[in-house]
Amino acid sequence: RTKQNGRNNYCFFTAEMQAKSSRMLELDSALRRALERNQFTLLYQPIMSLNYGVNVGFEALLRWEHPQLGSISPEEFIPVAESNGQIIPIGEWILRSVVKQLKEWVDAGNDRLMVSVNLSAVQFRDRRLTEQIAEILKENDLDPKHLVLELTESVAMEKPESAIVIIDSLKERGIKVSIDDFGTGYSSLAYLKRFAAHSLKIDGSFIQNVPHDPENMAIVGAIVSLAKNLGITTIAEGVENIKQLEFLKETGCTAIQGHYFSRPMTAAAASDFLAVELVKINKVFA
Ligand code: C2E
Ligand code: MG
Ligand code: MG
Ligand code: MG
Repeated sequence: RTKQNGRNNYCFFTAEMQAKSSRMLELDSALRRALERNQFTLLYQPIMSLNYGVNVGFEALLRWEHPQLGSISPEEFIPVAESNGQIIPIGEWILRSVVKQLKEWVDAGNDRLMVSVNLSAVQFRDRRLTEQIAEILKENDLDPKHLVLELTESVAMEKPESAIVIIDSLKERGIKVSIDDFGTGYSSLAYLKRFAAHSLKIDGSFIQNVPHDPENMAIVGAIVSLAKNLGITTIAEGVENIKQLEFLKETGCTAIQGHYFSRPMTAAAASDFLAVELVKINKVFA
């Protein structure tokens, strides 16, 4: 490599780094005001049972709309919120909002409904977590059986022994834990058994090319049968078409989530959706 090239590379690299760090600084300061300025909302994406064809729950998904920066993906801003500590108050706001909403839905008769909330690594390791959630549930007089916390496989596996202690303390309170993005982390099957999660969410990347990717299909089949043997339910994420749905049904996967059935919806739309589903659910479980 010539000296000239070396210098060009160097300049290009710093320019890119500079752009990235100025975006980070921008997000960092905007995030510090986002809560008080009511810039966050939660959307709810339905999770549908493959056996019964009815709704079994929702996943709550955070959205941030900034007046100048526009809408920013959680994949981009959650890491910034984790590094500046804002994830703690934001996470608490998410839990309070979801539990309040869930209470309303349960009171409307949806007594089998479960809503999952994504937990960041920082929240999961916060010692106050279990107590805080128990308090929020109590304040809202909500049965903990309706709440599911999603923890990614990578976060769970980072310090598996301490994850087991935290998961157990949540389970003691009747709160369920689901392992998110399953299949993308470095997982140990021995730990999977000890986590004793309520469900596994099979990462969308394994579903994407079904039915044209026999290797990923074999992996999905193996995950489903392993989970079944451990008494854990499976939810496939990112289901976008009927071919994928049919394959998942054949493998014995418990439930699906994805654009094929529905995109994430507002709380108001979810309430309307639930009113229709409840009629079906009451027939199925009559
Ligand atoms: P995740 O928990 O794995 O969430 C699933 C993602 O897949 C969501 O992206 C959802 O909108 C998207 N999705 C749903 N159906 C389909 C589909 O059919 N096809 C495709 N391609 N995608 C689909 P979203 O909402 O952008 O969230 C991205 C990630 O950000 C989440 O991944 C989660 O890790 C994080 N996140 C979202 N909301 C929260 C939150 O409230 N708290 C925390 N800590 N993290 C969150
Ligand atoms: Mg999730
Ligand atoms: Mg996921
Ligand atoms: Mg994900």
